[in-house]
Amino acid sequence: MRQDLLPPDVREILEERPKPLEAEIHDPPSTHFRLAAGYLDLDNGWHRDFVVRELTGRDEEALGKVTKVGSMMIEILQRGLVSVGPYKSPEIADGLVAGDWETVLLAIRVVTFGETADFAPTCRSCARSYEVTVHLLDDIAKTELTEPSDLHFTVEGRHGTMYHLMLPLGSTQRKMLQATDLSVAEQNTMLLVDCIERVGDRPSLGKETVLNMPLADRREVLRQVIERRPGPRLQEVTTVCPSCGAENNLPLSIAALFQ
Ligand SMILES: [Zn+2]
Repeated sequence: MRQDLLPPDVREILEERPKPLEAEIHDPPSTHFRLAAGYLDLDNGWHRDFVVRELTGRDEEALGKVTKVGSMMIEILQRGLVSVGPYKSPEIADGLVAGDWETVLLAIRVVTFGETADFAPTCRSCARSYEVTVHLLDDIAKTELTEPSDLHFTVEGRHGTMYHLMLPLGSTQRKMLQATDLSVAEQNTMLLVDCIERVGDRPSLGKETVLNMPLADRREVLRQVIERRPGPRLQEVTTVCPSCGAENNLPLSIAALFQ
């Protein structure tokens, strides 16, 4: 019907009719982030930019079927990670540096629930509890790894043995998250099997090599693998008590940030 044929008052009513509500009710936060290390492709290309997406009700239904925390983290990463550089997920997840699994999970947390998390810690000095908001992108220190060559390093053992190592990748991180039935020592063995490339000028024989390492060497190698791990340092977040000014540790875990 032509509107200029309608009486003026009817035309007015039609023009004032409210528009249908738009489905998009908020602007999604930026989905582009940067890895703390990077993804090394088969042509030695080093990619640091990645894209994640917001989790939805469909994801929540799928995650509801997963009971173990470690498997839940794997599922969230595979669902939320869209791409790294020109590469599409989920195939590349295993090729990321292990510590960057936490970089990616933190980014998925941010686009799904926001950039902040609220806590109510109790001060270790004055025992008062207080409220604190942690900004997940600004308040958490990161260890970065700028060069692909930094993936490889050496550690000298107590008797002069040189251990040639590579930082663990996502494939190791996946195994560790699934290995909840293993003791801590067995998990450490699993980690070292994947990290040790050579001992002196001999290639590693895997578990055989790791189990025969002197205990002091094993601990030192493990300490350096953990210390060099790129990614957010979730265990090192501190807050200041507003009552007495004391600094309190507020160790975070990725799993807790998704609860
Ligand atoms: Zn205090």
